[in-house]
Amino acid sequence: VKYVYDFSEGNKDLKDLLGGKGANLAEMTNLGLPVPPGFTITTDACRTYMGTGVLPPELRVEVTMALRRLEDELGRSLGDFHDPLLVSVRSGAKFSMPGMMETVLNVGLNDASVQGLAKFAGDERFAWDSYRRLIQMFGKTVLGIDGELFSDALDAAKKARGVTADTGLTADDLRELVGEFKQIVLEQSGREFPQHPREQLDLAIEAVFNSWNTERARLYRRRERISDDLGTAVNVVAMVFGNLGDDSGTGVCFTRDPSTGVPGDYGDYLPNAQGEDVVAGIRNTLSLADFEKLNPQAFGELRQVMRRLETHYRDLCDIEFTVERGKLWMLQTRVGKRTAAAAFRIAHQLVEENLITKDEALERVTGEQLSKLMFPQFDASAQRTLLATGMAASPGAAVGQAVFSSATAMEWKAQGKDVILVRRETNPDDLGGMIASVGVLTSRGGKTSHAAVVARGMGTTCVVGAESLEVDVTAREFSVKGKVVREGDTIAIDGSTGEIFLGAVPVVPSPVVRYLEDGLEAALDELPEDDEETRELVVAVDTIITHADTVRTLRVHANADTPEDAHRARAWGGQGIGLCRTEHMFLGDRRVLIERLILAKDEAEQQKALDALLPLQREDFVGLLTEMDGLPVTIRLIDPPLHEFLPDYTELSVKVALAAERGETGEEVERDKTLLAAVEKTREANPMLGLRGVRLGIVIPGLFALQMRAIAEAQAARIKAGGTPKAEIMIPLAASVMELHLVKDEAEVILATVAQEQGVELDIPVGAMIELPRAAFTADRMADVAEFFSFGTNDLTQTTWGFSRDDVEGAFFNQYTEKGVFNVSPFESLDTQGVGGLVKMAVEKGRATRPDIKLGVCGEHGGDPDSIHFFHGAGLDYVSCSPFRIPVARLEAGRAAV
Ligand code: PEP
Ligand code: MG
Repeated sequence: VKYVYDFSEGNKDLKDLLGGKGANLAEMTNLGLPVPPGFTITTDACRTYMGTGVLPPELRVEVTMALRRLEDELGRSLGDFHDPLLVSVRSGAKFSMPGMMETVLNVGLNDASVQGLAKFAGDERFAWDSYRRLIQMFGKTVLGIDGELFSDALDAAKKARGVTADTGLTADDLRELVGEFKQIVLEQSGREFPQHPREQLDLAIEAVFNSWNTERARLYRRRERISDDLGTAVNVVAMVFGNLGDDSGTGVCFTRDPSTGVPGDYGDYLPNAQGEDVVAGIRNTLSLADFEKLNPQAFGELRQVMRRLETHYRDLCDIEFTVERGKLWMLQTRVGKRTAAAAFRIAHQLVEENLITKDEALERVTGEQLSKLMFPQFDASAQRTLLATGMAASPGAAVGQAVFSSATAMEWKAQGKDVILVRRETNPDDLGGMIASVGVLTSRGGKTSHAAVVARGMGTTCVVGAESLEVDVTAREFSVKGKVVREGDTIAIDGSTGEIFLGAVPVVPSPVVRYLEDGLEAALDELPEDDEETRELVVAVDTIITHADTVRTLRVHANADTPEDAHRARAWGGQGIGLCRTEHMFLGDRRVLIERLILAKDEAEQQKALDALLPLQREDFVGLLTEMDGLPVTIRLIDPPLHEFLPDYTELSVKVALAAERGETGEEVERDKTLLAAVEKTREANPMLGLRGVRLGIVIPGLFALQMRAIAEAQAARIKAGGTPKAEIMIPLAASVMELHLVKDEAEVILATVAQEQGVELDIPVGAMIELPRAAFTADRMADVAEFFSFGTNDLTQTTWGFSRDDVEGAFFNQYTEKGVFNVSPFESLDTQGVGGLVKMAVEKGRATRPDIKLGVCGEHGGDPDSIHFFHGAGLDYVSCSPFRIPVARLEAGRAAV
């Protein structure tokens, strides 16, 4: 294997191997853009290292070769006494993990080469400051020394000199500080700071590999569903210096606004600064317009590069650059993260600009982004107390209690509170708190600060750089305009406008929801003429989702049990009902009717209870069939165990015992006793594996028959009313074809009887849910009887893994995701190997018996983007999901098809 690639050898498609940063540095190098030369160590090397714990010997050799090529190209050698080559050692995984892993700058400096650097730069102070930074970064990252020891020593030096900023320290101060830093290294690690440049390099490479597995990196990956075994690449890049005076600097920019999608140049620039200073949000940054004034030539060049990159990548790019004494250098680019609104608008703009096709536009947005656009927004007409306005960094309307530390955020969240994390700036240690918060607010930093980048990545509402806020994290409060907000006070932040309000602010529906419900024209009518951004957003959503509808092969049905749900489902593009859970119709007032059925002493009483239910059920179904006229309505026969319709066992037994103790008598006491006996009789240790679904239908005579008659009569009524009803009967939890026979035989008799009674023709298919492994294994037999299959992936997951779906998620799934058994709960996103394997098998077997069998899915996975892509690949005909997920499913089904 080859472990090391020069930048000239890679390209943007090698992200798996070279990481995002390495692949794009290679791409830019090949485009002829000003990239400092360097090489990338592959993720392969990292994976090997993680497996064995040592750097592979071949890697050492390859690094030597690459280093020599680099030295030859630049005519300098690493850590040379006269004019040293220095390198940065930067992490870079396949998926960007902003600020989560390590970087070491200035590698190659030692007691000798610091002199050479001073000579080359003509700046003694700069050289010692760079050396000081290396020991500090190296000590912390490579040797694992507590960073505070270094920053305390730095603070002490500033105090001794009587200055507050680093820049107040002289070359001599810094030289002395380097001595102290080396002492800290010796005391803390028991070894001298390594003077040999190559040893520094090897240790730094190893440290970057190790940073893949820090706690915060793991936490971030879990949250972003990134696999733990990818590993990171390492980029070794010739250093360029942004801290060589006022004609130097470093910055980050975007080719379009990543929070709104507005075309143009956006970014932050810090003069006389190195490396991560911008992203760390430590100093407030300048805008690109200010940069242009400072250095028009470098800015002009940057703008050209930006245009070049956008044309090349045909997408929003984000860029990190450094200016060294007026010369521009590109340190990184990538297709930039963006907010949901920006994603839709940019995709739409690029289609309009003829830079991408509509299919590509579809690939550029996600269902998750669409669902974010459906969130409510703050009501602009409500009474509100504006405290301040910061920069809109990540959209959303968040209301919560202010907290001032990551730890409190996590604690309060665990108590069920909504919190907004308020900090001067955030750093990677705040990740836990940011995840726990509904919003993040900082008083410093720009749109590319840590807080902004991470919040945007997580889709958390975020406002940054609200400079008028005096944040005092020790006192746990902030003040603004003479008002003091203390920990626990409620605030509201608007991540689309940057506004910060005191107290809660009411919210209103999003314009995208208005569009989904009432169409484009109605949504546009409601928006102010001058709100061009929102208008463009609604048009973009319309164009893209319409395109998804034209290309997708999966139909999208809804899980709906009421006419209201059915109505919404249809308005949002639902093409039928894929699952009506009829047991939901027996709750509330009607529970007592089921209770009577269960308690019936003889057949006559039972029949009476069923007779009372019939007209109610019929009306339920008429309601659904009316709303969904012309579209399939799959009605599932009653599924859950009967005890769900009876009072709680413990409560009832206490009540009965109390009554007995008090010597109470009477009708109610008698009724409770009978009820208790029934509850005892129906009690099961594992009700989810007990008497439910088709088993109920077989064991309790009349129950399924009642429902099937109601369905048949509803269909007949709708036909007579001139409608086009398309009811279907679905049998839950069958494991054997015999179960299906028993129910279907009964169905045929009932359908024929009702057809004759009503004088209409009834064509109502009978199908089966596939939600037990046995059903999947015997799907060829099941298809003998079932006219359609609908995969109940909730129960299929439960029974395939043997996980109780009602218990496990809270109980131990956290640990399971932490330990890497899975990245995400299999109840949330389909386990494609195990459960998905059963689905594929059943599809194949079902079609073998009945080539035109209709196949769908109605478990929660029907609304999950990754699962939808799987179902598309498995060749299903439709997915069914909750009405709110329908737009997401339409979009993702379209994405799966392109
Ligand atoms: C399923 O099991 O996936 C399903 C849709 O049925 P329910 O969730 O009602 O058990
Ligand atoms: Mg089920």
